[in-house]
Amino acid sequence: MTNPIHIIGGGLAGSEAAWQIASAGVPVILHEMRPVRPTEAHKGEGFAELVCSNSFRSDDAEYNAVGLLHEEMRRAGSLILAAADRRKVPAGSALAVDRDAFSEDVTNALTGHSLIEIRREEITGLPPPDWGVTIIATGPLTAPGLAASIRAETGEESLAFFDAIAPIVYRESIDFSVCWMQSRYDKEGPGGGKADYINCPLDRDQYHAFVAALIAGEKTEFKDWERDTPYFEGCLPIEVMAARGVETLRYGPMKGVGLDDPRTGRWPYAVVQLRQDNALGTLYNLVGFQTKLKHGAQVEIFRMIPGLEKAEFARLGGLHRNIFLNSPRLLDGTLRLKSCPHIRFAGQITGCEGYVESAAVGLLAGRFALADRAGLAGVAPPPTTAMGALLAHITGGAEAESFQPMNINFGLFPPPEGKLPKGRDRKRVYTARALADLQGWLCLPARAA
Ligand SMILES: Cc1cc2nc3c(=O)[nH]c(=O)nc-3n(C[C@H](O)[C@H](O)[C@H](O)COP(=O)(O)OP(=O)(O)OC[C@H]3O[C@@H](n4cnc5c(N)ncnc54)[C@H](O)[C@@H]3O)c2cc1C
Repeated sequence: MTNPIHIIGGGLAGSEAAWQIASAGVPVILHEMRPVRPTEAHKGEGFAELVCSNSFRSDDAEYNAVGLLHEEMRRAGSLILAAADRRKVPAGSALAVDRDAFSEDVTNALTGHSLIEIRREEITGLPPPDWGVTIIATGPLTAPGLAASIRAETGEESLAFFDAIAPIVYRESIDFSVCWMQSRYDKEGPGGGKADYINCPLDRDQYHAFVAALIAGEKTEFKDWERDTPYFEGCLPIEVMAARGVETLRYGPMKGVGLDDPRTGRWPYAVVQLRQDNALGTLYNLVGFQTKLKHGAQVEIFRMIPGLEKAEFARLGGLHRNIFLNSPRLLDGTLRLKSCPHIRFAGQITGCEGYVESAAVGLLAGRFALADRAGLAGVAPPPTTAMGALLAHITGGAEAESFQPMNINFGLFPPPEGKLPKGRDRKRVYTARALADLQGWLCLPARAA
């Protein structure tokens, strides 16, 4: 019999990867530690358990990036999407599911498959080379033994235990009649540029109103098991800094020194800086603005910043317990650990964010593992598709220095060429292109390695 492909973790990503592999006729051994060892968030022992919301977000494949990802996954034979479609509950234009029935369907599909062997056990170290091709899909709550081994292999700085997410804005929604590009003191960066940052100037009144809003804004709480957050080691939430004293931010991430506002020729009283977040240059993050403000409050308060009044956010900020790799640095284009290529990662541990994204990366990892097993080189979906755009971002398109988990959004796609329609119609250009390009990829055989 063909040697099996090992998968560690039976969450959204591991379940999808197992399905893709077994459906292609290759045996799988799926190692899942629950119920032998629980996580802090999972409640049961089913596969693909949804640990919080029961929503897979928008199901609109024409105008929404996550809806497009759903559709691409359906077309690629996703187990997770098939179970979600079967177990959906009314939720307007969103795809929400009966979580127990959904997990039960996935569990039945995996346990009932003749090529999938389930082992309920915790894996406490890196998979040995004699396992051959192995996928690690242990998620944001990877058990400590395995997490420590991954960290030992990848280095201290390369496996984070918490995210510290600053909001990300679509560049095209920033008002450049107010903001300007400049690096502090025109200092040259490693890439040779002297104008790498977008600067949003605040005068005295605007700064004080902004600080007051940060302090008053509604915050989310840490869960009990997150309370010992080591975030104070270097990434305090912006509202916590604001509450330490009205001048704190002006001497921290909002200092205006060395930046010449072209409208006044002077340094601004305070400034918010945005730094490029992806190689495409479509996304910019608010530097130092990791936050636990509620999402609604973030939109309201960050739109008080001059130049960001009409900002559209690709992602809002957050701080959570979340184990993830610096994938742009560590993984190759088919999710293999460069230093140990028999190991491939999938799911949230790769730095994608969300149920659907995790399952999508599981789907890709499963297909790439199949190609490896056949001695072929896996072919990534085109970056114009949602799966390809997400993969390209986490494996290289994102800035490694500031890498934080990412949801799928249109800012990850290369902008189509030519003149684009405005507003909603623009999104249809992206989604039509994606589905056309996906079709080609689905028909493509893997290449000779
Ligand atoms: C508290 C919390 C709430 C979240 N809420 C949402 C939300 O509402 N919506 C959303 O879209 N996303 C949410 N996420 C983010 C993310 O989408 C989910 O965590 C998602 O389940 C990730 O999928 P995954 O397959 O990567 O990991 P998981 O689904 O967590 O699966 C990983 C599996 O690996 C197993 N495992 C871990 N370590 C080992 C080991 N050493 N050996 C064997 N098995 C192991 C675990 O038991 C688990 O079954 C949340 C995350 C957390 C932590």
